[in-house]
Amino acid sequence: MVNVESYQLFLDFELPNYTGSVKIEYSDCDEKLALDCEGLEIHFVKPSVSWIMENQKLVLHGVESKGTLEIGFSGKVAKDALVGIYTAFYENGSIVTTQFEPIYARRLFPCIDHPAYKAKFKLVVSVNEALKVISNMPCSVEKSGNKLVYTFEETPPMSTYLLYLGIGDFTELESGTKPKLILACVKGRESKTNYPLKTGVSVLEFFECYFGIPYPLPKLHFVAVPGTAAGGMENWGAITFGEVYLLADENSPVEQKINCVYIIAHEVAHQWFGDLVTMKWWDDLWLNESFATLMGFKAMQALKPEWEPFSVFVQEEMKFGLLEDSLSTTHPIQAKVNEAHEIEGIFDAISYSKGASVLRMLEAYLGEDAFRRGVNLYLRTHAYSNAEGKHFWGALSQVTSSDVGSLAEEWISKAGYPVLLIEVQANKMKIRQERFSLATSPSETWKVPLTMEVNSKTKSVLLRKEEEVLEFEDEISSFKLNLNRTGFYRVYYSSLDKLSELNAIEKAALLTITSTLRFLAEFRFLSIWMWQGVTLTKKSFYLF
Ligand SMILES: [Zn+2]
Repeated sequence: MVNVESYQLFLDFELPNYTGSVKIEYSDCDEKLALDCEGLEIHFVKPSVSWIMENQKLVLHGVESKGTLEIGFSGKVAKDALVGIYTAFYENGSIVTTQFEPIYARRLFPCIDHPAYKAKFKLVVSVNEALKVISNMPCSVEKSGNKLVYTFEETPPMSTYLLYLGIGDFTELESGTKPKLILACVKGRESKTNYPLKTGVSVLEFFECYFGIPYPLPKLHFVAVPGTAAGGMENWGAITFGEVYLLADENSPVEQKINCVYIIAHEVAHQWFGDLVTMKWWDDLWLNESFATLMGFKAMQALKPEWEPFSVFVQEEMKFGLLEDSLSTTHPIQAKVNEAHEIEGIFDAISYSKGASVLRMLEAYLGEDAFRRGVNLYLRTHAYSNAEGKHFWGALSQVTSSDVGSLAEEWISKAGYPVLLIEVQANKMKIRQERFSLATSPSETWKVPLTMEVNSKTKSVLLRKEEEVLEFEDEISSFKLNLNRTGFYRVYYSSLDKLSELNAIEKAALLTITSTLRFLAEFRFLSIWMWQGVTLTKKSFYLF
């Protein structure tokens, strides 16, 4: 497999057009080298070798096994796209920005556009005098005729989809803290920049502490992109946000502030999990996104506990995942991605909602501290490199001396989830599990990490069988299962007599008979929804 050491990229903009050259330092190459390249015009290849454009690839023949190739090309900034290098318009003008995940870096320059081909990037960008340029690293600026030339420091090894380039008449505000945080927005938006900037500083502090690894780059930009409904993109050192999500102030409605804090935390978490350590291939995109989703809520819990973020998580992520995963249209989280362009269709909201919930369940089962130590081990072991899901489970297994891999595997490779039917008598608790499905589905069992509180004492067990009986020393006088709703399963209590008091997070997950009936009626499954021995009646029951 060819190894790309670095890309030295020179781009000269005469908007909307640009001409460029890229010097690619490589080794371990066969006689043939295929570079991803879309919508670009190739002008030259040095040293001179034969080349041809074939299926959006620039195929070079007769290349040396190692050395440096230089390719001259030109391209155009798109006006009607939200990917690749494109124009984002606002009321007083426009900016140029990029979105390269998953397969659009090839629209800026010829490269091996694959997450596992990490390389160092050195950018030099020439633009008209009035414009500022933002990229992943800090830069120096020089005047050359009527142009400004921005020379950026070389990046550490990183994936092509994390490269960023922004050009525009930006206003930039700095945090004055370390690592340096800079918010860039278009003119006229300044009044709503303090809140996200302050939030960014706290979030960076939180993650440096949580991951136990300093923020890896010399600076971080938050770029507020106008005129887009897109959320955020974790380009390393230069995160882009749809400005409607990022910009807020103290007087903004609380929902807007929640969105702002959450999206900042999610994207900043990726600076470590995703950017410093990157998935080898898009098969693990669900893990990348699910992890950042969980971390987004975790940081929010630390910063804004009064918002009860995990009640929001249960209401918005988990409830949605539980519903979608009970329909006939559900599918396992894990999927095989053959071509990068498939990922948008393969991983949907269920992969991410359920994925984040399954990670949260594992964290609760292993313990927050053990989980964090596993994350730290994983990041340290694979820093500036790539890894797969199995490496993440491996790191968690190593710090906990338990087989996290087989537990995780079961939850990501099987569609659906169980409902636990509970019966309590004297000092015994009988737990029977079956698949919770609003469609007909085969009976199945899961390894269920079950948390519980019995007679005011907490306990966790791993259920393995369809039916298990747990025995306690004393008669059970009060109990509840699935504490803080960390488990991705439902619990059915046939009687509520001995149920302990629920906290806010637990209440957020409650489906009472009224909402259950409404929920089932909406999905027209009422007539077929029946568990073995538990027919839905108007008798009072609760489902959690
Ligand atoms: Zn993300």
